[in-house]
Amino acid sequence: MSTMDLIPPCDPVGCASVGCTPVLCRGAGIASNERLFARSAAAIPGGVSSSIRAFRSVGGTPYLVQRAEGAEVIDVEGRRYLDLVQSYGAVILGHAHPAVTAAVAAAAADGTSYGAPTPREMKLAEAVIEAVPGCEQVRLMNSGTEATSTAVRLARGATGRDRVVIFHGNFHGATDALLAAGGSGVATLGLPGTAGVPAGAVAETLVVPYNQVPVLDDTVAAVIVEPVAANMGVVAPAPGFLAGLRAECDRVGAVLVFDEVITGFRLGRGGAQARYDVTPDLTTFGKVIGGGLPIGAVGGRRELMEHLSPLGPVFHAGTLAGNPLATAAGLAALDLLTDDVYVELMARARHLAALLGAACDAAGFPAQFPVVGTLVGMVCGDVPLPTDFAGAKRTDEAAYARFFHAMLANGVAMAPGAYEALFVGLAHTDDVLERIGEAAHAAARAAATG
Ligand SMILES: *Cc1c(COP(=O)(O)O)cnc(C)c1O
Repeated sequence: MSTMDLIPPCDPVGCASVGCTPVLCRGAGIASNERLFARSAAAIPGGVSSSIRAFRSVGGTPYLVQRAEGAEVIDVEGRRYLDLVQSYGAVILGHAHPAVTAAVAAAAADGTSYGAPTPREMKLAEAVIEAVPGCEQVRLMNSGTEATSTAVRLARGATGRDRVVIFHGNFHGATDALLAAGGSGVATLGLPGTAGVPAGAVAETLVVPYNQVPVLDDTVAAVIVEPVAANMGVVAPAPGFLAGLRAECDRVGAVLVFDEVITGFRLGRGGAQARYDVTPDLTTFGKVIGGGLPIGAVGGRRELMEHLSPLGPVFHAGTLAGNPLATAAGLAALDLLTDDVYVELMARARHLAALLGAACDAAGFPAQFPVVGTLVGMVCGDVPLPTDFAGAKRTDEAAYARFFHAMLANGVAMAPGAYEALFVGLAHTDDVLERIGEAAHAAARAAATG
């Protein structure tokens, strides 16, 4: 499909409503991104299907993506960006990887959803069980949000307790009980939680500082943690933090949940739990395991997982759960993600951080690029490297916004928020990284004088 196919035929009424003139409509190459976004914003609140995609914290208008390939996204005006968003980490193989598109096409030809179990969901569950230490069984669903809400329900149902402990600055999706304090989106929006969550929904949710082991008691059903925090920048777990959580949960009989929606099959096949050698009772997944299609999963110890319906009393169901297309894409992705790939991705993450760091240093633009395994963060401003949310909030958001826009102008797409990770994948070859590094030199100079 060409860019022109997306530009609507001239419609004076529609034009008036999005603030352009019929004359502009007829011209080719007129700022169609602005016009299409205005049209989106008329139909969709804020013009986005996920609020984190809006440019509220950096200013400006989001680029509408027409298509993407490998490391590049191409917007509706044909502009190309080297992409460090990569669907917030979901497309680790790069955009439109042929193995994934072929698997999805083949699956689609066999039917897109049945309302009955399939061999593909069995194989994806088996692949997760084989790779991830804490998973003896896996239940598939449609998003990371569904996974964390199911994990909370499962932990509460299995323990007969209500209290849930979360960490300030960790993000677990749009799950009411876990929106007591900010994650990436909420932190960026600067809201204390969110409207629409009744006090009752978070009355049993305790928010504590990241990287400190809380003292628990026997009212606690679950402790839910991002084992590497990747929604307040990228913050590594302090030595002993995860093992300390394991010991404290064991002491009081609470369920330890690792939210590995980002880190699962991103830090390595075994995720953060293999990297740090701490095994949780439950693990939530999303992003990478769907190969870029909508997916979520909860895995864990068999004895706990058997509390899920139909074996146990904790309800879970989903019309599209274990979806044929998503499981086909996920299987294709996991198939290519060998241990060697992660060694390579770690080298690329270090390379990217070094290039960006050198560019910012040369321009006198204060910024740090912490690396944890394959994850890279960016911390703007002359501030200490964050170890928790209070530290992360010292990031100079205005400086990030300047750098973000300067990178975009130089053909590199980063997430439109100062607390997201930079994602490298199979498509970020040395050549791509060098080009990103060159763009960063120009961007850092522009942002430094901002
Ligand atoms: C993205 C994310 C989620 C939410 O997953 P969705 O698929 O967007 O619902 C949950 N937890 C973490 C750690 C995430 O990064």
